Amino acid sequence: MKAGERIVAHAVVPLDFTYNYRVGQYIERYIKALGEKKIMAVKCQDCGRVFVPPRKICGTCNRILDEWVEVGPEGTIEIFTIGHVKLNKGLVEKIDKPSIIAMVKLDGASSLLPCVINGLDPEKVKKGLRVKAVFKEPPEDSLFDLDHFEPVG
Ligand SMILES: [Zn+2]
Repeated sequence: MKAGERIVAHAVVPLDFTYNYRVGQYIERYIKALGEKKIMAVKCQDCGRVFVPPRKICGTCNRILDEWVEVGPEGTIEIFTIGHVKLNKGLVEKIDKPSIIAMVKLDGASSLLPCVINGLDPEKVKKGLRVKAVFKEPPEDSLFDLDHFEPVG
């Protein structure tokens, strides 16, 4: 390398895209139900597993899923992590208050749903804790109409 020459190994390029895509009939029905404060899932008539968010095919049985069932609105924390940073346009930022991200098994469901848990001290989160859904009011016809979960009681 010559004197005064610099090495540029990488560059940060913040990207801020807004996506608008067709969600399909299963997620459309799921989102509409969230607006009515209901969490809808689909049940496999072969293996009996209940999937939320709903999907079209059971990957185990290779069967089209067309039996709709309501699940929740309460469930149990199965796995969790505590976040101390957030991503903002591709950059990591430290946050003042830690956030709890959990995989919740809703009552009546077989699959786990990723959720934000509010109203709980991160020191007190644990596997098996009962939580309930809190919906956005008024609904915005979005996946985020299921805003977060909070402890039961
Ligand atoms: Zn199945």
